[in-house]
Amino acid sequence: MNLDSSPIAAIATAAGRGGIGVVRASGRDLAALTAALFPNAVFKPRHATYIDFTAADGSVIDQGIAMAFTGPHSYTGEDVLELQGHGGPVVLQMLLARVLEAGATCGLRLAEPGEFTRRAYLNDKLDLAQAEAVADLIDASTEAAAKSASQSLSGAFSKTIHTLVEQTIDLRMLVEATLDFPEEEIDFLDKSDARGQLAVIIGSLDKVFTQAAQGALLREGLNVVLVGQPNVGKSSLLNALAGADVAIVTPIAGTTRDKVSETIQIEGIPLHIIDTAGIRTIDDAVDQVERIGIARTWGEVGKADVILHLLDASYGPTAADEHIVAALPAGVPVLRIWNKIDLSGHQPAVDAAPDAINVYLSAHEHLGIDLLRAELLRIAGWQQTGESLFLARERHLIALRAARGHLAAAADHAARTDQSLDLFAEELRLAQAQLSSITGAFSSDDLLGVIFGRFCIGK
Ligand code: GDP
Ligand code: ZN
Repeated sequence: MNLDSSPIAAIATAAGRGGIGVVRASGRDLAALTAALFPNAVFKPRHATYIDFTAADGSVIDQGIAMAFTGPHSYTGEDVLELQGHGGPVVLQMLLARVLEAGATCGLRLAEPGEFTRRAYLNDKLDLAQAEAVADLIDASTEAAAKSASQSLSGAFSKTIHTLVEQTIDLRMLVEATLDFPEEEIDFLDKSDARGQLAVIIGSLDKVFTQAAQGALLREGLNVVLVGQPNVGKSSLLNALAGADVAIVTPIAGTTRDKVSETIQIEGIPLHIIDTAGIRTIDDAVDQVERIGIARTWGEVGKADVILHLLDASYGPTAADEHIVAALPAGVPVLRIWNKIDLSGHQPAVDAAPDAINVYLSAHEHLGIDLLRAELLRIAGWQQTGESLFLARERHLIALRAARGHLAAAADHAARTDQSLDLFAEELRLAQAQLSSITGAFSSDDLLGVIFGRFCIGK
């Protein structure tokens, strides 16, 4: 693993304007850089110093706070220098340029995306699951997602994984000690209660998996597509579902002037909703660029987790609805929403037909909206466990699932008296390797590249 500790710098705060902006530098030794930037200052580590940030010619770029951290007591584990100035894009660029200029002689360069956090990981300030949680906390789109990211960042997820790894190691040691004494193999499993220990590990792993899978849901959310004829109430339903969370609605500019996609939340789970009414058909596209955009949006429809097909409850499906149904991608669950029951006289209800689930509601009168919310949560697989959740990633779920498979195989071997302990031991070893990959004990440079490459610059 390459431990590059040459000095790096970047703007660490978000692009755009803000009250404060931070330029951060990190490296094994920043004494030369600090002396070049502030010839007359002596900084006490981790104390704020109000100071002029000056250009090479002595003119003042900005005034702000300088803070020096001496490695290993810093975010990256290296020397870190943070300059907090005013948060304007131009002034921050000037400050960054000045820092890069002052550090040129000691090899200072612009940081790559995620490089600060990558160094924190390589210097054992964070493990891999925690480093991922940094990015997830920054990207969190709901409060619940932010809470579980911060839970993972604090190390709660990693600690649970470590416990599983240690329990697996204990069992392996027990088994491998016996492997050296073949005559004892036969009654080893009974004497040592290896099966009981294995069952305990499997039980804990299943619990972690549930917490992680629920957390993954908070992170990824549910992709929902609204289809239906004009005026059946798609926009009204979107507003009714969003309810008190309307403030969080984030319009994303589509290929047309209509809003195509927005994100609302139900119990903290982001619902990414595409309203097909805003999408034009390929035939209506004015140019190639728009055609590509439209094709991409329809592609998204195919990746939906659930489709809401809206119909007017006061009259049955029309020929146009038959066309809509025929055009829907196969394999995606469909909720048939009968809207406007205030006009038709139906009661709010959910009933499962063989081909789709029918939901009767009124978007305008807010009748049956709770039934729909509950139905969406059910489809998402949301369970209110009351447990704290880990904002897990797909990578973690895959590793947990693989580990579970190896433990189940080990249990299989243990259940049969005609097999040697070698196979049992080997499955335990494989399970341990999968679990360890979550916190990064066996991670490859490739994996690190993928994980940290997705960070923004400055993190
Ligand atoms: P869209 O074209 O599918 O997005 O439909 P809109 O949400 O714009 O609604 C079309 C019309 O139907 C509007 O006048 C709404 O007020 C009305 N509408 C929507 N939902 C209901 C409902 O549940 N009951 C009644 N009576 N009218 C509704
Ligand atoms: Zn509409």
